[in-house]
Amino acid sequence: MKVIVIGGGIMGAGTAYHLARKGAKVLVIERADKGRATSAGAGIICPWLDRECSDAFYQLAYRAAAYYNELVPALAEDGELDISYRKTGAMLLSSDADTLDKAEVLLRSRAGAAPDVGTISRLTPKQAQGLFPALNNEMSALHVSGGARLNGRLLAESFERASIRHGAAWQRGHADLIREGERITAVSVDGETISCDAVVVAAGAWAPELLQPLGVPLAVQPQRGQIVHLSLPGVQTSSWPVLLPAENDNYLLAFDDSRVVVGATRETGSGFDYRITADGIRDVLTEALRVAPGLAGATLLETRVGFRPMSSTSGPLLGPAPNLGGLFIANGMGATGLTLGAFSTKLLAAQILGEPASPLIEPFKI
Ligand SMILES: Cc1cc2nc3c(=O)[nH]c(=O)nc-3n(C[C@H](O)[C@H](O)[C@H](O)COP(=O)(O)OP(=O)(O)OC[C@H]3O[C@@H](n4cnc5c(N)ncnc54)[C@H](O)[C@@H]3O)c2cc1C
Repeated sequence: MKVIVIGGGIMGAGTAYHLARKGAKVLVIERADKGRATSAGAGIICPWLDRECSDAFYQLAYRAAAYYNELVPALAEDGELDISYRKTGAMLLSSDADTLDKAEVLLRSRAGAAPDVGTISRLTPKQAQGLFPALNNEMSALHVSGGARLNGRLLAESFERASIRHGAAWQRGHADLIREGERITAVSVDGETISCDAVVVAAGAWAPELLQPLGVPLAVQPQRGQIVHLSLPGVQTSSWPVLLPAENDNYLLAFDDSRVVVGATRETGSGFDYRITADGIRDVLTEALRVAPGLAGATLLETRVGFRPMSSTSGPLLGPAPNLGGLFIANGMGATGLTLGAFSTKLLAAQILGEPASPLIEPFKI
């Protein structure tokens, strides 16, 4: 089976990798737009503390987090040794004990079915500070040892190289869909027509503009996220846990190279405005320094901008397009694509190759 995948972020690269491993002939067309969400994503993998998600979302999300236990060694077998994946633990932070009590009840109710949660414990402000020394000394924590982080850029690159090792080809360019009757039969890449048996649109926030000429509506819009990378030269940050303040959606996490990442804005209605703004950076840094005043002297390394593909349901969109043969959609990953993406694309690849749809992605069909 010959499949063309449009888009090389985590959804496209992951789909290509899983299809190629199953023996499909795969071509990925990647335009590498500025603002690719996968390249800006923070990389937090911690679905068990999500208090607002639907049951269907959570069922997919906790298995997706567990899938990294399988994927990291599988990528290593393909020579891909570094996606910066590490179970650093995560801490939900609050100065309000009631908030942490409620979160702990939810977490413990989920832990039985999801052993990847790891150990659950309550920490005093001093204990929490011991794990993340830049933290203020006012907030207690609910600590979950299974919380993890990874580098989305490295994961997409690893998927790309590993898919090529399994026979996939990658081409840089702009893709358009070609329709014959009620089927998508080919893709046009910068004017060249390439025929195929199926196309996967994994074009992130840009997917609606690709589908619109075919009359296929996709309720997805870009949501800009501005995220700041700081450096603490000489400080060993590799085991610092992910910080999740309970009062808002901001977060902090650390990587091996003395890097602390703080984010992020969630700017619905931003369009594709690829800019770093004064109030965006102020908001991110103000919250980061409130939570972790010890970062005040850190070096500001870079700011990244990414467009999250947000669906109107805030949930994923996965599966065949209705009323049009040969077309599959991998989209709507919003703020959790690095958590959900690798596993979702494994399930989607199986469906593209003719297996019945997994009940885990069935609720997110188009
Ligand atoms: C600031 C920020 C922080 C985040 N933090 C986290 C986090 O901590 N944990 C988590 O789980 N998730 C996180 N996310 C979400 C996650 O990054 C996204 O959900 C995910 O990366 C979306 O992947 P994607 O492949 O759908 O889209 P993208 O990564 O945007 O990739 C789409 C690709 O399609 C290409 N394309 C588009 N149109 C065409 C065309 N016509 N032809 C060829 N190519 C085309 C584009 O150039 C692009 O490269 C974060 C996102 C942001 C922005």
